[in-house]
Amino acid sequence: MSAAPRDASTAGPPPDRYAVIGHPIAHSRSPRIHAAFAAAAGERLEYGRIDAPPEGFARAVHDFFEGGGRGLNVTLPHKEAAARLADRLTPRARLAGAVNTLARQADGSLLGDNTDGAGLMADLARLGIRVMGARVLVLGAGGATRGILGPLLEAGPALLVIANRTASRAAALATESGARVHGCGYDALAPFLAAGPFDLILHATALGLQGEAPPLPQGTAGPSSVAYDLGYGAGDTPFVRWARAQGVTRAEQGLGMLIEQAAEAFFLWRGVRPDTAALHRTELP
Ligand code: NAP
Repeated sequence: MSAAPRDASTAGPPPDRYAVIGHPIAHSRSPRIHAAFAAAAGERLEYGRIDAPPEGFARAVHDFFEGGGRGLNVTLPHKEAAARLADRLTPRARLAGAVNTLARQADGSLLGDNTDGAGLMADLARLGIRVMGARVLVLGAGGATRGILGPLLEAGPALLVIANRTASRAAALATESGARVHGCGYDALAPFLAAGPFDLILHATALGLQGEAPPLPQGTAGPSSVAYDLGYGAGDTPFVRWARAQGVTRAEQGLGMLIEQAAEAFFLWRGVRPDTAALHRTELP
């Protein structure tokens, strides 16, 4: 009996394997973004999702790379754990103490990078949102905030405040980041509001996944403020709804950042820089 002829599309070595790992992960649009980059660049690869709770993270990463995987995107709540797990960190990942991209090197070691900051700054530039000279508030003190702080500071804000549910975490991150950064709890923002609402408010907490926005004092945002939610959704996110209720003229979601940070990761893995402009214009399902 002769074997069935092999489909030309499946001939040759299996495609290189990549995935995004997080908890939860079902909502992630990274697989669609990387599939679009690969198709446009003519790169043959597979990109999946791995749901791993914190206690299973190290094992899941180990199994993925032992099984021949080439690279992982890392999302909440694992970015700081990924920085501890990597054998080597890029300078920007070391500065952040958080990793959103793992790449297996030729010698089998794991390189950890952080493309979140570059992704955010590229999206703010695309949207024409200025950081230089702005009074900036960052909500949240987790892995995402760690990734964006360095590039935000480099862009020259007049003031940078981190506010978080756990005030001590915000304060510690501010101390790590230098004298120009302040860290506090949401209820301690009042002194900063004496000069008026913040110019730019970046939301980087996991609260949106629970359908909520952080409890911020009256006056945190106003008509002159720009709100940017690192989270994203099909309609307005809870933070975007909150911001609109404060009268902001502009409220954006983080899908553009997701596309830009993914492009940086794709470049690290494949050595090819995807053209993101087309994807920004596409309605991602
Ligand atoms: P993380 O490391 O797990 O940090 C979570 C943050 O959310 C912490 O500041 C935490 O505060 C806060 N938080 C969690 N539950 C809360 C609650 N019930 N009430 C108040 N605060 C709560 O997560 P992450 O990696 O920083 O991600 C944060 C968000 O940014 C996520 O929505 C993620 O999807 C988004 N993100 C988007 C992009 C993009 O490309 N668009 C990139 C990175 C991240 P405590 O310190 O008090 O626990």
